[in-house]
This record gives sequence, structure tokens and C-alpha cells, in this order.
Amino acid sequence: MIITRSGADRAAQARAAEAQLAIDGIDGVVFGWVDNSGLTRVKSVPLSQLVHAAEFGVGAPPCFDVALVDDSFTSAPSSTGAVGDLRLVPDLDRLTPLVAQPGWAWAPADRYTQDGAPHPGCQRGFARRATEAVARRGLTLRAGIEVEWVVADATGDPATTGPGYGMTRFIEHSDYLRDVLRALTGQGLTVAQLHPEYAAGQFEVSVAAEGPVEAADTTMLIRHTIRAVSARHGLRVSYAPVFTEGALGNGGHLHLSLWREGRNLGHGGPGPHGLHAEAEHFLSGALAQLPALLALGAPGVASYLRLVPAHFAGAYRCWGLENREAALRLVTGSAAGQANAEFKCFDAAANPYLSVGGVLAAGLAGLDAGLPLPPETRDDPAAAASAERLPVSLSEAADAFEKSALLRQALGRELYEAVLAVRRAEADLFAGRSDAEVIEATRWRY
Ligand code: GLU
Ligand code: MG
Repeated sequence: MIITRSGADRAAQARAAEAQLAIDGIDGVVFGWVDNSGLTRVKSVPLSQLVHAAEFGVGAPPCFDVALVDDSFTSAPSSTGAVGDLRLVPDLDRLTPLVAQPGWAWAPADRYTQDGAPHPGCQRGFARRATEAVARRGLTLRAGIEVEWVVADATGDPATTGPGYGMTRFIEHSDYLRDVLRALTGQGLTVAQLHPEYAAGQFEVSVAAEGPVEAADTTMLIRHTIRAVSARHGLRVSYAPVFTEGALGNGGHLHLSLWREGRNLGHGGPGPHGLHAEAEHFLSGALAQLPALLALGAPGVASYLRLVPAHFAGAYRCWGLENREAALRLVTGSAAGQANAEFKCFDAAANPYLSVGGVLAAGLAGLDAGLPLPPETRDDPAAAASAERLPVSLSEAADAFEKSALLRQALGRELYEAVLAVRRAEADLFAGRSDAEVIEATRWRY
């Protein structure tokens, strides 16, 4: 479990890390956090400032809690506009020298107030609180987020000609993919798989499951790493929900398994496909909140151009074993430890701390409610008259989020209001714009 360290402890940790970083040739450390629109924001310090920055943090304007995908700002009841400051504090437990950015190391950051209290709008803090609430029940979660991305050449066109899953495409970018693999593994990540995905220019990497906060950190690190390797190969990267109009988009599928005393509760139980009661209740809680959770896992207007039937995106509110059109896909895996549930409806624009934390909060409410899952959807839900589409627009998802007392309480007033304000403002930002214009405006933002 992640423990919030005191400033003095953090300084001691930084002092201990400094010598090795110098030996590794590190000149500076980048601190990253993901804002409510899904964009990663950073600050950096030279190595000589790391100890001070670890103890006291570095300044970070609170207005980024209400920043939109186009870098404009909206406002929320608690936002203070140009006034005020926060402290961005690196979590040195996750300090990582960056293979594809020689001289630089990276750490995910928590945000604190100037008094040293956790900032109530900190998304990583929210994911940590949700993880701790699960732990208080004697349960553990293991999570992994698949990363899909499109590589493009300097002109901005997809940089592949080979087919989806095609060896041709793999060979076209053999050296590039090797460098992606080397950089990820060189940074201590356990890569599970790497393959050419279906859409033009698209690839995907998945990594081993870990704790929810760590999995969200890992997603951030993978994305930076892929971008940096791509830059060295003269390639551009897009994590936008949709790169090419009408084509499959970039998913950010979240895989979760629930464990008690070392046992995966998704395997060998009396429920559907081996689910133990607690896992079934957890998933039923998440499914109940799924329309509202989309405001966290599918955060942009463009997200709803991806979340359509026949795009493997999980546009229907249902679950099914290995059902790739269901929002919630059950995966039994090849071994007991691998059984998990996949939230397919989330995309690569999501702030992973928000989507993970939201699912955990909804799942916990499901444990309390103790309800079974609804009947399984065994075929393509599009064929069933009773199939329920998930929200078809950001506004609809924001409506569901606004009605969710559960998520309001779990996120806390400040974070909840900021997220809602950002969702409403982005819906307004793109109101009346064509699909092509929305894609154009967001293609290179995430
Ligand atoms: N790219 C698809 C998406 O947008 C997912 C393809 C798959 O992995 O099944 O979610
Ligand atoms: Mg995929």
C-alpha cells in the first residue's frame, strides 16, 4: 500500500536517490500529474533541487483543475482562477530514469496545499483513498490498463500500411517496436504483450497487473515512453479516442481482479464463470454506475465518437464472457490468477486515477448492496432489442455523473465539482462542431 510520507521522509528518500541518479547521468527530474481533462501536465527540477522539491514540492497553479483539452480554463465553485498555488510533490517510490530521454528521470506527483495537506482535488489522492477503502475490507485489487496508440509520420498520416495484427506492419516498424520494448522493460515494467492493433497506424502494449494507483502511474509512464521513443524515430503519437473518422479508436481498457487472502475472487467460485460472491457484487456495483463512470473513463466529446457499436469499444451496458461488444468483458484467462474483468468502454483520454478510483468506489458500493449481476449477454448486444446503450455523448455521461450521489461522495466535493465543470465546458466547447472538427481538434492533444 502507498503511504503518504512526511516532508522530512521524502527529503531523506531524495537524498538517498540523488547519488545514484548522478551516477546514472540524470540532470533533471520530471514530475507529472494528469488533469481532469485527461492531459498530462509536468514540471521539472534539476537534480540539485530534488531534495528540496521532494520535501516542499514545487508550485503548481490550481487552475489546472479546471483546464480543458484546448488549454482554456473553465471555473468550478471551488476554483480560484489565477489566485492561489499548490505544491506538486513527487512520489519517489516510483522514481524512474527515462531510457528514451537520456538525462531525465520521472516521478508521478501528488498535489498538496501550501499548508502541506493533501489537495482535495488531487486525482492520485482520490485513487489512493479508494484503494485504501477496498483494503479496509480485507480485499486487494490488481489492475492493468492497456495502452493503444496511433503512430503517424511527420505529415500526420498513419505511419503504417500493413494490416491490423499484421506481420507486415510489425516488420515496417520492427526497430521502433524493439526500442519501445527495450525502453519499457529498461524502466522496470513487465511487458505482457505488444502487437499491431486493428486501426491504421495503431499498436497496443499491455503490462502485468499491479495495485490500482501503481497501474495508473504505469499508464502515464508507458505513454511518455512510447512518445519519447517515437520522437527519436521521427514518428508522432496520438492517444486520442479517435484518430481517423469512422475507424476504431484508442481504447484504454481497464482490467481488474479482486483478491482476498491471496485468492483471486474471479476464479473457482460458485457464481457465473467462477466468480465468488464478492467479485460478483463488486462488478454489479460497477455496472450499476457505468453511465456515470463514463464521465471519468470516457472524458471527452471525441470519446463518444469511439464508443459506438461494432468498434470493439463496449458501447452497451452489459457484461459477457469474452464479449468484446459488452462494456464489461469477463476474461477467465489461462490460469487461476489471471481471471479478470475488463472495462472496455474506457478510452485512452481518461485520467487513469479518476477511472480506477471511480470503479473502485462503485464496486465497494456493490459489495454493500450485495446484488447479483444481471443476466449475461452472450452475443453481440446490438442484436438484442433489450440492449441498453451507454451514454452516447459527453453531455449524457455528465448528466449521469451529476446524478450520482455515490461518485459525488467518493470524489469529494471539490474534485467532483471540478470534473463536472470540465465535462460541461468541453461539451460546450465543441457544441455544433462536426465529428471531423472534433477529431481534428483533439487528435494531437492527449
Ligand atoms: N481499439 C478498440 C477500442 O477503441 C479496442 C480493440 C480491442 O482491443 O478489442 O477500444
Ligand atoms: Mg486492443
